[in-house]
Amino acid sequence: MTAETVCLTFDFDAVSPWIHKEDGRNTPTNRSRGLYGAEVGAPNVLEFLADHDLPATWFVPGHTIDSFPDVCERVVDAGHEVAHHGWSHTPPGEYDSEAAERADVERGIESIERLTGSPPAGYRSPSWDYSEHTLNLLLEAGFEYSSSGMARDFEPYFARRDRAPVDSPYDPGEPTDLLEVPISWQRDDYPPLAFSGERGYTPESAVFEDWQSQFDHAPADGVFVLTMHPQVIGRPDRLAKLGAFVEYAQLEGAEFRTVESVAAEYP
Ligand SMILES: [Zn+2]
Repeated sequence: MTAETVCLTFDFDAVSPWIHKEDGRNTPTNRSRGLYGAEVGAPNVLEFLADHDLPATWFVPGHTIDSFPDVCERVVDAGHEVAHHGWSHTPPGEYDSEAAERADVERGIESIERLTGSPPAGYRSPSWDYSEHTLNLLLEAGFEYSSSGMARDFEPYFARRDRAPVDSPYDPGEPTDLLEVPISWQRDDYPPLAFSGERGYTPESAVFEDWQSQFDHAPADGVFVLTMHPQVIGRPDRLAKLGAFVEYAQLEGAEFRTVESVAAEYP
C-alpha cells in the first residue's frame, strides 16, 4: 500500500539559520551556504517543480522574503503555497519571552502578506521546536494548520494542550483547532545530506531509497510529507534522485498537493 497524497515542502531558510549571534555560526562561510540556497538551490528547485508540473509548499522565513525578494516572488508567481517559518528562524524555545515570540510570528506574517497579498494558512516551526507558548500564539494568529508535529506517521491530527509535569503522569490535554500535518526526521533532507559537523557521510542513494520505502509502507489515506531545503536538495544530482522518486510515486497513483489544500479537508 502507498500513500495517495504527497506534499513536497521546502523550508527556504537561506541565510536565516546562521544569523543568531550568540552561537558563533554567523560566519561568512556559513552565510555562503544560505546564499547558495537563495541564488542557486531555490531557482533549481523552481525549475524542477515546473519541469514536473508539481505544486509545492514553501515555508519561508520573513528574513528570506525581505533579503531575497526576487526569488520569493518567483515562488509565488509559479503558484506555490507560501507558509510561515518564523521571521528570524529562531527556534521557539530560545525566545526570552512570549512577547518576543509573538513579535517574531507577527513580523513573519507581515513579510508574507507583503509578498503574497494574504496571510499564510500554515506554519512550520524553525527547527520543529515549540515553546510552551507556540500553540496558543498560532491559534491567536489564526493559522489553519501547522506542519511541525510528530505524533503520527502520516495521519493529520489536532494539536493538544498537553502537559508533562515532572512529578505526575503525562496529561495529553484537550485537542485544539490547530491541525498538525505530521513531519518526520526520517523524511527530511537536512540530517542525512547537510554536513553539520556531527554526522558521518551517508550514501546519498540510500536516503532516497528510504523515502521510497516509507512511501511504500504508508496507508492509502496517509499524507506523505517530505521536508527539504533548497540549499540541500537543490543540487542537480539530488534533484535527479528526487525526480525518480516523484515518477515512482506518480506511477503508484499518488497525487502531489500543497499542505494547505490537504489541511482544508480537515474542518
Ligand atoms: Zn528552517
